[in-house]
Amino acid sequence: MSAAVEGEVRVFAEYERDFTEEADVVVVGSGPCGAVVAHELTARGKRVVLLEEGPPFTPQDFELDGALSMTRMMREAGLRTTRGTIIPTMQTIALGGGSLVNSAICVRPPDFVFEGWEEYAELEGTRRSDLDPHYDAVEAFLGIALTPDELQGQRNLLFRDGCDALGIESEPIARNVRGCRGSGECFTGCRARAKQSMDISYVPAAIKAGARVLTSVQVQEVLSDGRRATGVRGQVVEPFSGRRSHRFRIDAKAVVLAAGCMATPVLLQKSGNLANGSGQVGRNLQFHPGIAVLGIFPEKVDPGFGATQGYQSLAFLREGYKLETLWAPAAILAVRFPGFGHDLKKRLAQVPYAANWDAIATCHRSLGTVRARRGASLDPILTWNFDPEDAQVLGGALYQIARIFFAAGAKTILPGVHGVPDEMHSLEEADVLRTRRYAASDFVTASNHAFCTTRMHGDPAKGVVDPRGRAHEMDGLFLVDTGIFPRCTSVNPMLTGMALAHRSAQAVADEL
Ligand SMILES: Cc1cc2nc3c(=O)[nH]c(=O)nc-3n(C[C@H](O)[C@H](O)[C@H](O)COP(=O)(O)OP(=O)(O)OC[C@H]3O[C@@H](n4cnc5c(N)ncnc54)[C@H](O)[C@@H]3O)c2cc1C
Ligand code: SF4
Repeated sequence: MSAAVEGEVRVFAEYERDFTEEADVVVVGSGPCGAVVAHELTARGKRVVLLEEGPPFTPQDFELDGALSMTRMMREAGLRTTRGTIIPTMQTIALGGGSLVNSAICVRPPDFVFEGWEEYAELEGTRRSDLDPHYDAVEAFLGIALTPDELQGQRNLLFRDGCDALGIESEPIARNVRGCRGSGECFTGCRARAKQSMDISYVPAAIKAGARVLTSVQVQEVLSDGRRATGVRGQVVEPFSGRRSHRFRIDAKAVVLAAGCMATPVLLQKSGNLANGSGQVGRNLQFHPGIAVLGIFPEKVDPGFGATQGYQSLAFLREGYKLETLWAPAAILAVRFPGFGHDLKKRLAQVPYAANWDAIATCHRSLGTVRARRGASLDPILTWNFDPEDAQVLGGALYQIARIFFAAGAKTILPGVHGVPDEMHSLEEADVLRTRRYAASDFVTASNHAFCTTRMHGDPAKGVVDPRGRAHEMDGLFLVDTGIFPRCTSVNPMLTGMALAHRSAQAVADEL
């Protein structure tokens, strides 16, 4: 948190009794989408209360140990997985939401993604050109810029070199950073405070404009009079233990849910199945499943230096995947190394020579659900099934990464997929990655990009909100997180979530 707003954010120790407050708008969730809406509404002179279940983190709170960091900053200690096809998925619990731990990648999807949205969900006004002014505004506010070569580090530049050698288009990644030092620690929180996460960007700006920000408050129910949302109620929760204490209620003229694409549907379900005449709340869950391949080079790569994710290729988006460079803490990376005991130790000694490149796949065929549990827990029951055709797309991505590694001079790759050798030493050996028929269970995949669980749709019978996030079925209720995407973005979702939220702010203001 910036020194300027420390003390202006209400924290756990400051709640002494039950309380009630009143506002024009109550925003639930301080991730990228909620923070943008809170700021834009406050800047328009509205009285805003922003509620966040997690605590604020300062640089001293960030744990470099990846496993410990996940225990503290992620829901279910970072161990959240789906049923059906098992896929780990991380959602953050902190002031700033996912922006605190993400790699700061900010990409506008190409036109064809929005044309697909329009057609699939009978939408109007969601073309890329309709959203460009909102992307512009967010990019200017956060100082989003391309990662310069001097911050790339070898592990990112080798990706560029491999792509160049093969004639594959690639580009530096645009990120929301100011003064990045290339420490590669985005996942555990930016100790340099270079990453413009919401807690040091949009949230302080909202506070400066007059917003009240309450942390360690868990919203448990959206209140309504049957026709109109009238506020929220919940309890104060202790950071990390989740122990519940004082009760609170916020009365408001409009309620904006930005609790993330897993928490928002659960909140609606727990509130008497609110705004769900379409039956679509909690359905259509989509992920961008990801795979990563390690490459070992003959010379030292020094992978500890460089922007966490500095280079990308959008060349295969229409085929269904995006390629990126990626670095992670050693404890997380270790799961990608095969073998155990002495064998594993020998492999870990290769880390200074290693680079790690990944693919995220557009998986329209692989769908899931989010359901509320019985009882008091707000943790969702997630189900998701990886479609065999989508798994095949991910296999194609593996092969492309192998090509790029060998073109860049790697001597060995570790493909990290079941049913093929642990190590490959040439493109000929890697050909099996291209020809193999994959099963969904072959992949060690994960996804932190999740969407569509309260999707927008032009037809109120088929979706939960309109393109401005207004609930079809309830006045005064807006949803603005990545759950409202009608389909996935094919690229990293944060910037699109913020652009849509930026646009929704005007619709909320108009309704007051
Ligand atoms: C490790 C990681 C790396 C990623 N890298 C990138 C990247 O580089 N680029 C990119 O585009 N995307 C990335 N993503 C995804 C991106 O961070 C998310 O898509 C984005 O944060 C979603 O924003 P949101 O506002 O919808 O939800 P969130 O960021 O999840 O914010 C929701 C907030 O609501 C709070 N909340 C939930 N329930 C309640 C409740 N009941 N009461 C009060 N508060 C509640 C949560 O604690 C949370 O802070 C990454 C995600 C992770 C986890
Ligand atoms: S690479 Fe390091 S300095 Fe740069 S934004 Fe990420 S954590 Fe911060």
